[in-house]
Amino acid sequence: MGMPAEPSRFAPAGAARAAAWTTPPAANTPSEVECCSRDALAALQLERLRETLRNAWDHVPWQRARLQAAGLHPDALRSPDDLRRLPFMVKGDLREHYPFGLFARPVEQLARIHASSGTTGKPTVVGYTRGDLTRWAALMARSMAGAGVRPGDLVHNAYGYGLFTGGLGAHAGAEHLGCPVVPVSGGGTERQVALIMDFGPRVLCATPSYALAIAEVAEQQGADLHRSRLAIGMFGAEPWSAAMRHEIEARLGLRAHDVYGLSEIMGPGVACECEAREGLHGWEDHFLFELVDPDSGEPVAEGVAGELVITTLTKEALPMLRYRTRDITRLTTQRCACGRTHLRILRVAGRNDDMLIVRGVNVYPSQIEAVLVGRPGLAPHYQLVIERVGALDHLRIEVEALPGWPQDGYAAAAQDTRHHVKSLIGLNADVAVMAPGTLPRSQGKAQRVRDLRPAAEGAGAATRGPSTEE
Ligand SMILES: [Zn+2]
Repeated sequence: MGMPAEPSRFAPAGAARAAAWTTPPAANTPSEVECCSRDALAALQLERLRETLRNAWDHVPWQRARLQAAGLHPDALRSPDDLRRLPFMVKGDLREHYPFGLFARPVEQLARIHASSGTTGKPTVVGYTRGDLTRWAALMARSMAGAGVRPGDLVHNAYGYGLFTGGLGAHAGAEHLGCPVVPVSGGGTERQVALIMDFGPRVLCATPSYALAIAEVAEQQGADLHRSRLAIGMFGAEPWSAAMRHEIEARLGLRAHDVYGLSEIMGPGVACECEAREGLHGWEDHFLFELVDPDSGEPVAEGVAGELVITTLTKEALPMLRYRTRDITRLTTQRCACGRTHLRILRVAGRNDDMLIVRGVNVYPSQIEAVLVGRPGLAPHYQLVIERVGALDHLRIEVEALPGWPQDGYAAAAQDTRHHVKSLIGLNADVAVMAPGTLPRSQGKAQRVRDLRPAAEGAGAATRGPSTEE
């Protein structure tokens, strides 16, 4: 069962441990490495961290210079804490070495390249060896199995295929687990509904906003998704609120699981919610997770909010050392009800870059979403427009009315929403309730924010989504 282990500089000597990297876990039974003691996990992390530093030192001149400057020779590493001497990596480091400058392998030894589009400047380019792809597939398979997906389950994959890691990442993970995949990609929503009703997939992979778009089109077509076989949703690439989860589950008739990943580190499957759904297990046998104060860079205590920083432990082609994700979250190492010992990332509220500062109030789009979704008279389709009026920032929340909600009730719904945004978030915003179908629908990643402020102010006149990956 499973794919044969690829030869890898990281492959440990023991066959049992190699199997833990590549064998798809039996559904709902976590593998040994997912439940090993935290001491054993720490020992494995240290061993793999040394290998990773050695790989970076030997093959990436820029990394070697950084390690030398920090006095961090791979053989001298005594504890993962030693890594704190090394400065952080940021997305700009990848852009500066565009396209392949931080790769530890020449292109002819790679198996695949992905890239993020980026609204400004050059894309960030990431590469994978054959072994990297196998480990990625194994981790995505582990994530799906943890969410209750079983070998043989038909998977409808509506993540975009292409340079974006979502489509191919989920695809390979599902195949690794032993699941047949419908590689439909994003868009063509009417056809998506037909395929879901006709083929009977048990699993839907999509961004949460696109899952909602599928539900809406299904309702318009008179197709009842509750009568489909859908049971599990694997949703990621955007932060989404608990209110949105409830909405999606009610509309699609499935259990929604949050998947976390970013292309700079791997792609989807860096972390995922298990069936307990009390945080996303971050796979610590392949990644070292730190949480730091975004201003000082110092570690924060467990349970305190901070910025997630990730070091890869088994990436051959592109070792990443202390990469700042910009994602603000909290971590817990308390044992989960599912039996897994790997730490849990509490759901990501938003990315630092997506935080809006409106008249001195800091707010994530997902916080506003939490107020909007489920409010009487409102549909879960919204857009946030920020403008500069005189010297002041001004936020307008555009949100659609529920289909069938009387038009003479729009003003009251807007008033009620404005009041709740003020009392729950402390934000003064204009609220415009609009007719159903007015706002653009997501075909992949939702565009939630239209920032119309002058570009010189830093934010730029850009349209952006609260995405966890560009
Ligand atoms: Zn768990």
